[in-house]
Amino acid sequence: MLSAEGSPMQWVAVHRLHHANSDDVDDPHSPNDGFWWSHMLWFLPYDTAEENDRLHRRWAPDLYRDPVFHLFQKTFILVSVALGVLLYAAGEWAGGLGVSWVLWGLCLRLVLAYHSTWFVNSATHLWGYRNYETTDMSRNLWWVALLSYGEGWHNNHHAHQRLAVHGHKWWEIDVTWNVIRLLRVLGLATKVQDRIPQPKVAASR
Ligand SMILES: [Zn+2]
Ligand SMILES: [Zn+2]
Repeated sequence: MLSAEGSPMQWVAVHRLHHANSDDVDDPHSPNDGFWWSHMLWFLPYDTAEENDRLHRRWAPDLYRDPVFHLFQKTFILVSVALGVLLYAAGEWAGGLGVSWVLWGLCLRLVLAYHSTWFVNSATHLWGYRNYETTDMSRNLWWVALLSYGEGWHNNHHAHQRLAVHGHKWWEIDVTWNVIRLLRVLGLATKVQDRIPQPKVAASR
């Protein structure tokens, strides 16, 4: 919600739709429909409340049952509005810097967060290497992995979608995985799937 990428229910539904149809005709953001479409244009068309509702019921029925996610669906953009007001007030208080604080803390931050996330949909379905032979075009791309805190090891993620670990080789730096590990130590994350599958050894004759 802070990154203004839609409500959590919307995000989950689109994400699952992507995994179910990766680089196929029903993929919401495949580079097969053009780089700029997969990067950011897919995000722009307006969907009616009914269309979104159908999407949520089909792809996020677990979240759909929880009224909290419906509240988030209606209010997620208010989080950014409230933050903008707060930044402006704090900046003004600090000495007439209201506009400057809004530009840095809201506008520039959102642009950077958007493109870091969007590169996962565009660049890591186009460029990089593959550890796994998946049926989609997903790839591992180091600079997207750094920008997106690990999600850029995208071929690993597509091959093992329920795994919390995205970096599967020792040098595939995965910041998010370390945050999850910390949450687990603190008892805030449970039932974490962390078993990186070992490459199959060819059976000896
Ligand atoms: Zn995913
Ligand atoms: Zn993908």
